[in-house]
Order: sequence, then structure tokens, then C-alpha cells
Amino acid sequence: MITPFLSPPENVSFSYPGINVLDQESCSACQNTLYVFLEKYHHRLKPFLETDGTLNLALGKGVKNFPKETICIGNCCNNSPKNTDGIQVVGCPPTDGQIWDKVQEKQKSKGHLTQNIIESKTDSGY
Ligand code: SF4
Repeated sequence: MITPFLSPPENVSFSYPGINVLDQESCSACQNTLYVFLEKYHHRLKPFLETDGTLNLALGKGVKNFPKETICIGNCCNNSPKNTDGIQVVGCPPTDGQIWDKVQEKQKSKGHLTQNIIESKTDSGY
């Protein structure tokens, strides 16, 4: 008996509370970096989200509007002429650790303490 494969899903989406992703014309490499970052670090972002509200992350060359202090992931996004206020994470693609470093720099620049970030044992293991 032959069992046919199911079709792949047309849309795959994940929910990370407090995170706003602006993605226009990015490729799978930057998308994967973002996914790894969120899987690995989202649970550590809680203190940041409580003080700053939403964390805006942008990727891809087609993003047109950047909210203040958006963290821009990848060279494509950072070469956009519309990106005048973004926090740059360069690379093609950059790494999840680079994004995390920028999140911490952003907090330090505002005088927020970062030493309370606990190394959690619930990391996804990437
Ligand atoms: S910076 Fe590189 S990895 Fe990221 S979207 Fe552009 S081409 Fe892809």
C-alpha cells in the first residue's frame, strides 16, 4: 500500500510575545538567524520587554518604515536608504549572538542593568 506525502504547509508562523518582526524580501539565511535568536534568547528578553515594550527587529532589503531603535539584521536591511535610525547587526547573514550583543548594548546605552540576565538551562541547545 502506498501512502502519499502530505503537502507542506503554505504558511509557517511562530509567536514570540513582545517581538515585532518587519520582514520584506529577506532570504532564508537571515530568517534562520532570526529564528535561532528567538528560540535561544526570547525567554531572556523579558526584563528588556518590561522596560522598553516591543522589540522591533527588521530584516530584508524591502523594509520601508523603521520604528525608532529597530534592530536591523543583515547587510541587506542595513543598506536601505530609509534606515537612518536603526541599530545595525551586519553580516550575510549575521549570527544570533551578534543580535543578542546589540540587544544588550541597547539596554546598556539606556542605563538599564544587564547583569540580572540569567543563563537559563532552558536554551534550545543551538
Ligand atoms: S543580508 Fe544576506 S543573508 Fe540576510 S537577507 Fe540579505 S542576502 Fe540574505
